[in-house]
Amino acid sequence: MLKIRSFIFSPIQENTYVLYNEQKDCIIIDPGCYFNAEKDELDAFITQSGLKPRMLLNTHCHLDHVFGNKFVADKYGLTLHLHEQEVALLKYAPASGLMYDLPFDNYQGDFVYLKQGDSLLLGTDELQVIEAPGHSPGHICFYSADGGFIVGGDVLFNRSIGRTDLPGGNHDLLLRNIREKLFVLPDETVVYSGHGPVTTIGEEKKYNPFLN
Ligand SMILES: [Zn+2]
Ligand SMILES: [Zn+2]
Repeated sequence: MLKIRSFIFSPIQENTYVLYNEQKDCIIIDPGCYFNAEKDELDAFITQSGLKPRMLLNTHCHLDHVFGNKFVADKYGLTLHLHEQEVALLKYAPASGLMYDLPFDNYQGDFVYLKQGDSLLLGTDELQVIEAPGHSPGHICFYSADGGFIVGGDVLFNRSIGRTDLPGGNHDLLLRNIREKLFVLPDETVVYSGHGPVTTIGEEKKYNPFLN
């Protein structure tokens, strides 16, 4: 069974997730560590827990989700997994960083492309890739049916949804994807979002003001 550890990183307060199993293999999703102290905090958790990083995943490539890609890739020798339609955003992210006064070095390695229906294995644990564009053009979520959770990026938040006023955003598409791709999951599914506290699919069906 996958366990999950979250960190809140950068002035943008992004949630970074480390998923790990009993064999101490781990997956790092959206490393938003910006400051050296944040990179040290992430590495300290991994090192002190004896974890072996096996995969680096991005739900999408807004700057706050990719600040630490290069650090994680270089440190642990990992190749970035993302949806092909996020590559343009990734390449633009450092320019975006300058506008926010948050300069950073971008990931420069190869890409492994993920798409709807792909299955990622960490030992015997499986993560299913769910495409849910709208907040960004190639946004994907990572669903663990056995674990009863989804790492959802900036699609669905506790009582809110991802913004759609950035390039490639589409409000109607986002709402449709939340209804058709996320709200079909079991109500008790825990949602680990890109920002803010955890929630569940059932709670958001009932209380999310954007979806009533
Ligand atoms: Zn975003
Ligand atoms: Zn974000």
